[in-house]
Amino acid sequence: MIISGQTKVAGIFGYPIGHTYSPKMHNAAFGQLGLDYIYLPFQVAPDKLGQAVESIRALNMAGVNITVPHKQKVIPFLDELTEEAGLLGAVNTILHKDGRLIGYNTDGRGFVSSLEADAGIDVCGKNILLIGAGGAAQALGISLATAGAGCISIANRTISKAKELADRLKRAYNGSDIHYLGLSGKHLSDVIGQADIIINCTSIGLKADDNPPISTDALHAGQLVCDLIYNPAKTKLLEQAQLKGASILNGLGMLIYQGAAAFEIWTGKKAPVDTMRHAIM
Ligand code: NDP
Repeated sequence: MIISGQTKVAGIFGYPIGHTYSPKMHNAAFGQLGLDYIYLPFQVAPDKLGQAVESIRALNMAGVNITVPHKQKVIPFLDELTEEAGLLGAVNTILHKDGRLIGYNTDGRGFVSSLEADAGIDVCGKNILLIGAGGAAQALGISLATAGAGCISIANRTISKAKELADRLKRAYNGSDIHYLGLSGKHLSDVIGQADIIINCTSIGLKADDNPPISTDALHAGQLVCDLIYNPAKTKLLEQAQLKGASILNGLGMLIYQGAAAFEIWTGKKAPVDTMRHAIM
């Protein structure tokens, strides 16, 4: 990589930021396409977020990714939001265009692209169970509804949050078949049995000895069971789902495709997804 006076700068703002795979992924992609860009990690403390966002304009950066804990708090500092980011109330990508800062959210789109590319699944008309109602579940709910999911059920430990997300999706997607429920009981077991796609959007499974967030008794062949977690690569939920004959998918593809979408927003070029995948494997 040769840095010149023309090199465009992109990066990621988070706190902490030491764990991020994004610089590897994006710098490999810029290199593969011979683009004169560089991607850097920036540790941005919460009380410095406004200054950091203003620096995108001041330093004439191409754009940045935004990660925890800034995805919601960054919004007041932006000039414009895409419909998806506005609906979600969270931004993971900023484009600097003609002096304006435009906020996008590519998380949910990243998951839907991974379903299509890695699992060969079109969500249109599918019966989907989301487990969890936090930021990731919200992003997926919006993208899955946009992509034409037939029925979405949201199961969460805190039922009020599942209801809040279900109500929001119903308001935004008039007429969609959307339900909410708790994380246990016969009703959940029926919903699990009937789902085409089941997606763990909770943080349960991040620790290798975490038990699955739901009972796996009702899982069966013909279903796709997904976990947004990619480290460990196979959570106990995925292990048990596979033993029941279900297909499985972890969250690595979502990480790659949300990055690929950001890459395309900044550069206008098709992202070299295989290069990005190799860079973080
Ligand atoms: P949030 O903190 O916003 O939400 C966490 C969710 O997990 C909530 O629904 C919460 O339920 C639930 N939860 C946490 N602990 C428990 C528990 N002990 N029992 C039951 N439910 C629990 O996190 P995010 O939505 O941002 O992230 C969720 C997961 O998705 C994480 O594992 C994260 O690593 C992963 N992720 C992966 C991405 C990828 O690119 N592959 C991208 C983004 C996230 P409650 O509401 O009751 O607290």
